[in-house]
Amino acid sequence: MESLTVDLSSRSYKINISSGIILSLGAELKTYLKRDRIWIVSDVNILHLYQTDLEKSFLKAGIELNLLELPSGEKTKSFHFFEKTVNWFLETGIERNDLIVAFGGGVIGDLVGFAAATTLRGVEFIQIPTTLLAQVDSSVGGKTGINSQFGKNLIGNFNQPKAVIIDVSTLRTLCDRQLKSGYSEILKYGLLGDIKFFNWLDFNGTDILSRDEALLTKAIKKSCLIKAEFVKQDEREQGKRALLNLGHTFGHALEAVTGYSEQLLHGEGVSIGCMLAFEVSAAMGFTSLEATKRVKSHLRKVGLKSELREISSSLPPTEKIIQEMLKDKKVNNGVVNFIMVKDIGEAFVTDEVDLSVVSNVLDASR
Ligand code: NAD
Repeated sequence: MESLTVDLSSRSYKINISSGIILSLGAELKTYLKRDRIWIVSDVNILHLYQTDLEKSFLKAGIELNLLELPSGEKTKSFHFFEKTVNWFLETGIERNDLIVAFGGGVIGDLVGFAAATTLRGVEFIQIPTTLLAQVDSSVGGKTGINSQFGKNLIGNFNQPKAVIIDVSTLRTLCDRQLKSGYSEILKYGLLGDIKFFNWLDFNGTDILSRDEALLTKAIKKSCLIKAEFVKQDEREQGKRALLNLGHTFGHALEAVTGYSEQLLHGEGVSIGCMLAFEVSAAMGFTSLEATKRVKSHLRKVGLKSELREISSSLPPTEKIIQEMLKDKKVNNGVVNFIMVKDIGEAFVTDEVDLSVVSNVLDASR
């Protein structure tokens, strides 16, 4: 087992990475419980695959398992399912000293972390991420929340989990499209702050996406280490942590205009968004065309989306996409703070991006 720590003084926690622990999860989690009851929330697709294993493992450990099945997909990160989850905790008799587990992708992790924070003013929770995206990003760092009619992730809080338990073997059942979506967030770490990691990914990316478990484990661990370091330095995103949003201002706007639907997965928005960040940076003179070309060629090599024209649904006018960007959480006094790049591995925040340049780059990508 690989293990690392997110170092946040009294809120520090371990990220354990191993393979095939679902069958012994009951025994694994027993040490965190004050009584022999546990509350696990997941989604329908995941439970279809893992419910029997979960039930067996908790029965064997003598733990009463309370299991809530939610629908899958981004629309589950809503007030409706937040209410449903919190009411279910209360209705089934949860107490403040109990433990909640988010067993699923980023949608389940974000929603359940927020529901745990607000139930009885805070019940501890553990993240067991089952998508690559959640294993390398959303389960780490304590950002939790739901979407609002005004935009994505606009309602939520910082709520660090008690632990993150990553079982790499759960990725065997994840479809290729979702695996690639998660890879975008891995790539993001190399692009924003670690050219050596980018070079390693450029060499190994195709094998990682062919599910080589040893390489996947290395990529997950490195991603978690990078994220843990950013979170340690800036837990509540007052400064440096914002760099982790490379590509996200573009990506979130694209997710919004495609209705948070299957037309564009979160990670697909991120890979296109990272490309756009390099293209806008090049057009603004912040970075070189060579760096931009290298990123594009990597995205093509591993089969990730890099252009707006690769989104299957028709997009609204560019102006509307820019309007969506203005709803971003990084807007200050009506000005968007963009994450731009000087080079591969060197991102920075600036409010000096000309929106007409952004508009031209978006037009060229359609
Ligand atoms: P997701 O949770 O919707 O999962 C994707 C799909 O994979 C779902 O259909 C799910 O049912 C299925 N699935 C999950 N695990 C599976 C498995 N092991 N085998 C087969 N199918 C499986 O999406 P996601 O990409 O994991 O997460 C996206 C969400 O994460 C977005 O809402 C995004 O905003 C959020 N996010 C949050 C943070 C953060 O810091 N909190 C960071 C990045 C992304």
